Amino acid sequence: VKRSGRGSVQSYDSKLLVEQERRLAINQALRQALSANELFLEYQPVVSAKTGDITAYEVLLRWESAELGRVAPDEFIPIAEESALIVDIGEWVMREACKTILDWSGFAGGPKIAVNVSVRQIVVPRFARMVENLLLETGLPANRLTIEVTESIFDIRRTQLISEVLSDLHDQGVEVHIDDFGTGYSSLSRLHQIRVDAVKIDKSFILKMDVNSRAVIEGAILIAHRFGLDVIAEGIETEQQRSELAAMGVDAYQGYFFARPSAGPCENPHWQQRSSA
Ligand code: C2E
Ligand code: CA
Ligand code: CA
Ligand code: CA
Repeated sequence: VKRSGRGSVQSYDSKLLVEQERRLAINQALRQALSANELFLEYQPVVSAKTGDITAYEVLLRWESAELGRVAPDEFIPIAEESALIVDIGEWVMREACKTILDWSGFAGGPKIAVNVSVRQIVVPRFARMVENLLLETGLPANRLTIEVTESIFDIRRTQLISEVLSDLHDQGVEVHIDDFGTGYSSLSRLHQIRVDAVKIDKSFILKMDVNSRAVIEGAILIAHRFGLDVIAEGIETEQQRSELAAMGVDAYQGYFFARPSAGPCENPHWQQRSSA
């Protein structure tokens, strides 16, 4: 912070004020978003490194606000988390996602659906029961649902409760993945505290891919595999990144190189096209 005089202090204050007003406006508008049908979902494929098949779609929430226009999830989700709006929104996301993946592929089999879940949702009493009921209601087999939770589940004091809820989901057959892996500290040593099936290496490491990022990725792969977990790499934008990650031994890919998030299923995946030349 520069301390060059009164002027800069004032503009610092007014910037804070503008930010606060924006957050307030988002909070207000978000209360209407569900009932006004302003929320919708996009889906991005997760691809098996071994076969090239689409094994899952990650669900990504979108908001087109009548009042504020398009607001990015990185901006509105933290606000929804603060106000507990995320609980209702999150349940809506999961129901829509379960229905959609069944529409695309039917009951018998097909890709999984991976839903982002906030800590705030998990600590609501009977979260696991809510998920169970939702699966019954939609008819989606539990083994086709994955929930993605961030490393923040390790940071707070409720690790015991969280690990019980995740265990419960696990027992139902739901997969649990750790999202944004590598961004939080001390999570590697705590992986054994919670039953998870896979880790998703944060896209910041893949996008950078310098010496340090590479060390984090290699370390994460080593440890995850030692714990028997799969490793997913997200944020893959180029073939070069894909082949480097393949050489490092990741199990699944996700990123713009394969497909951008979209409203529909990924038809005729370009990486599976055989060239006749
Ligand atoms: P995330 O869970 O880490 O999701 C991955 C983000 O990376 C998404 O951003 C996706 O669009 C983006 N992405 C995918 N491939 C690439 C790539 O190749 N390059 C780059 N640069 N980006 C890529 P998005 O859709 O803006 O979502 C941001 C975050 O918002 C998500 O990060 C997640 O933390 C949160 N979020 C989104 N939907 C939900 C939801 O339904 N519930 C909760 N609790 N959080 C959500
Ligand atoms: Ca995610
Ligand atoms: Ca992520
Ligand atoms: Ca994230």
